[in-house]
Amino acid sequence: MTRRLPPAAIEEAAELLRAGELVAFPTETVYGLGGNARDGRAVAAIFAAKGRPHFNPLISHFPTAEAAFAEVRADDRARAVAARFWPGPLTLVLPRRAECRIDLLAGAGLDTLAVRVPAHDLAQRLLEAAGVPIAAPSANRSGAVSPTTAQHVLEGLGGRIAAILDGGPCAVGVESTVLDLTSAGPVLLRPGGVPVEALAALLGPIGRPLPIEAGVAMATLRSPGMLLSHYAPGLPVRLSAQEVAADEALLAFGPALPGAAISWNLSPSGDLNEAAARLFAGLRWLDAEGTARGCQGIAAMPVPGHGLGAAINDRLRRAAAPR
Ligand code: AMP
Ligand code: MG
Repeated sequence: MTRRLPPAAIEEAAELLRAGELVAFPTETVYGLGGNARDGRAVAAIFAAKGRPHFNPLISHFPTAEAAFAEVRADDRARAVAARFWPGPLTLVLPRRAECRIDLLAGAGLDTLAVRVPAHDLAQRLLEAAGVPIAAPSANRSGAVSPTTAQHVLEGLGGRIAAILDGGPCAVGVESTVLDLTSAGPVLLRPGGVPVEALAALLGPIGRPLPIEAGVAMATLRSPGMLLSHYAPGLPVRLSAQEVAADEALLAFGPALPGAAISWNLSPSGDLNEAAARLFAGLRWLDAEGTARGCQGIAAMPVPGHGLGAAINDRLRRAAAPR
């Protein structure tokens, strides 16, 4: 049985985490599946609950930059972006310190570690109350669409985790931006809640990792979690739709194309922030409702690539990738 805890039950959630249990909690991006990052058994339980491959490392969450930088080595660039964007939807990949006490499995055995200071008030209070860093991937079964409400979490992980702290819907709606600062040039591993334009304004040009094709060997991937097929609904997804069939479910952006069986508009006014916040709930709803009505697939209208549009398009490409 998974207990649904109200925001007032922070102390109880913190106690469960300290005892090695798993607790899902809201962040400004999506709901996280939290476990004590210093406790190898809790970390192993996260991989098991998600059905996540062990080569895909987790992000460790901290209440402050100071707490994060006690575990990883932060250079001037890392300190500058942290000062500007933390707390917030940005994850930094940095070298582990020799004295790092984050469980090795949390980092999938790598000598680097992904760290973040989330901004959500409940996440902040939970980190303070728990008194330990929290390893937390998105609170969904591996490969499925990320959760932006407590109900989404229960649909995927109910019965597999001790509790969920219900903080309502997530404001940003797409995962954190992942920035690799382990080499001379900064590299964007995942577009997300902090637009890459904002990072480039501070750091200069940001590199991209090798394009990820279905056949690329895992060992050559800079970020093992960047698998092509991810965030996948049950129905096939078709991108850049210019027209829509009567047996398709439509994911609209701006004025909706006519003629779909059902449609979910990310943002009728074309606001990318609103669209990001509504993306995963929309994919889930179109998938469930479209399947119930016998639809053949989901047609997604084009979304501009700037700001949060880069993260939205990244998630849509993965949702549409061959499985
Ligand atoms: P999730 O936990 O589902 O939000 O995914 C975390 C993302 O961060 C995945 O794409 C991971 O591959 C990536 N990540 C975590 N740790 C590292 C690391 N040490 N080096 C590179 N990428 C990482
Ligand atoms: Mg995830």
